[in-house]
Amino acid sequence: MSLLNIVCPYCLATNRIDSSRLAIRPGCDSCKQPLFSGRPSKLTARNVNTYLTGNDIPVVINFWSPSCEVNKAMEPAFAKATLQLEPWVRLTRVNVELERGLPRTYHIRSTPTLLLMKNEKEIDRKSGLMSASDIMSWVSNKI
Ligand SMILES: [Zn+2]
Repeated sequence: MSLLNIVCPYCLATNRIDSSRLAIRPGCDSCKQPLFSGRPSKLTARNVNTYLTGNDIPVVINFWSPSCEVNKAMEPAFAKATLQLEPWVRLTRVNVELERGLPRTYHIRSTPTLLLMKNEKEIDRKSGLMSASDIMSWVSNKI
């Protein structure tokens, strides 16, 4: 048995979850919402540190721009990858048109760019259009 810290995407409370319970989609101790909703979490300057320091599972950050066609084309793929990779990976996205500081902090030069983070460290990044299976195999090979 191993205990993992998982940040709740609704109230940002850090939950300690036995890893064997991840697959049963546990709820948050604090707000009772599901810890994994099947949708990418919205990352902002205000919550990014909580996500990166509070999660023992890897965190994928998708830097995306709603006005870019390539980004829009990748949305269904990212949504599908989220459904498949949860609850072993937390998938998030940053709207670079609203969050100007975060792309600078992470040296993002183009969108879409995916960052794979674990324990606050960058494991890898990938830019450009990816299919759901591209995303899933990239993440699975790195973690
Ligand atoms: Zn909660």
